[in-house]
Amino acid sequence: MTLREVVVVGGSIGALTAVEMLRMEDFDGRITVLSDEDVPPYTRVPLSKGVLAGTESIDDVVLAPLADEVDLRLETPATGLDLRTRTVHTPAGPVPYDGLVIATGGRARRLGHPGQDERVLRTYGDCVRLRDDLAASSSVLVVGGGFLGMEIASTARTLGKDVTVVDLAPPLDRLLGAVVGGHVRSVATQAGVRIVVTDGGVRLLGAPTPTGVELVDGTRLEADLVVSAVGDVPNVEWLAGSGVQVHGGIVVDSHCQVAPGVVAAGDVTVISAGDGELTRSPHWTNAVDQARAAVRALLHGNTAAPYRPSQYCWTEQFGLDVKMVGDLDPQGEPTVLDGSLDQGSALLAWPDAVAPRSIVAVNHRTPPVKLKRLLQPAAQAARA
Ligand SMILES: Cc1cc2nc3c(=O)[nH]c(=O)nc-3n(C[C@H](O)[C@H](O)[C@H](O)COP(=O)(O)OP(=O)(O)OC[C@H]3O[C@@H](n4cnc5c(N)ncnc54)[C@H](O)[C@@H]3O)c2cc1C
Repeated sequence: MTLREVVVVGGSIGALTAVEMLRMEDFDGRITVLSDEDVPPYTRVPLSKGVLAGTESIDDVVLAPLADEVDLRLETPATGLDLRTRTVHTPAGPVPYDGLVIATGGRARRLGHPGQDERVLRTYGDCVRLRDDLAASSSVLVVGGGFLGMEIASTARTLGKDVTVVDLAPPLDRLLGAVVGGHVRSVATQAGVRIVVTDGGVRLLGAPTPTGVELVDGTRLEADLVVSAVGDVPNVEWLAGSGVQVHGGIVVDSHCQVAPGVVAAGDVTVISAGDGELTRSPHWTNAVDQARAAVRALLHGNTAAPYRPSQYCWTEQFGLDVKMVGDLDPQGEPTVLDGSLDQGSALLAWPDAVAPRSIVAVNHRTPPVKLKRLLQPAAQAARA
């Protein structure tokens, strides 16, 4: 079927990449983008870094504008999907499609109850509010020590705040493994961040504005500003009853297909790893690469190349630029390919340099494309 009317649902990097890819593939039909946001598509990456620190503004994060002929409808959430009639429902009325790209991403997960005005960081609006809160606070408690939580901690420390991070496990170990995670934590600690690891859940205290957390042993940690950075939740509720398969995200096949004429990409998806396990990869590069693959599949079906995740992500914090490709949480001692963590710049491989499953570069000049190439022998062997 030749497509004439493609609807893209989402207002961020996945949606924008899908639109660019449609045009690169010479799709000359009508494109409608439905976004529930009130600002044009922007990148979230600097929200925990330069924008939060006050060194970058919305003008710096807004992505390249969509071409004039693209019908971008802001503040227009998709509220339902009818696969049979090929219609997306919105409060402004139904929008018909013959091809649909779903890129509705995720939202911040929350710890507290509805009566608590919990501070999170996902949208530009969250960022502006958090920046104002930071300016009025001298102490900050960050709940969650993943990439986002530690980036917020880093920025808050740069602004001279007294910073504590609390998590159920040593921050970053689950993502970067104990060696690199331990290194980043030691740099963070030297920068003055206090890290608390608790053996059990935390309860958010204070309402409406949270004032701290209580640990399972009854210990209370308090601060002027409490920020939750405890992961994200895929935006799938609008698909309820549509027949789209959802298991912790939209389940896509190896071509990012969801249903006839429907593909999905980015943080909203889960991918089968081949062994039946479904994994999410809520990182910027995955959203871009998957949106490209999804559009190719929408236009060319199974003759398009299947999606091969590059498994690349990065974080910037405490003066460290950490790039990673391959499996998260590499176990054991790495093989050192170059430099050393003690000297401040290192290129590391797990389990070895011959068939690495994970590569991490810390303040190392190797560009992402070369890091991905370093991993390729192992990836090819795994697929063989
Ligand atoms: C503060 C922050 C910093 C980050 N830093 C990094 C980093 O350094 N490195 C890295 O690799 N990754 C980083 N990430 C992750 C990266 O930003 C995400 O992986 C990426 O934004 C995913 O893009 P997406 O388009 O799939 O989803 P999203 O960015 O979540 O966009 C989804 C869009 O869909 C809209 N939407 C949702 N529901 C509907 C609906 N029903 N109808 C219409 N529109 C809807 C949303 O409002 C949003 O505009 C960061 C994320 C955050 C929040």
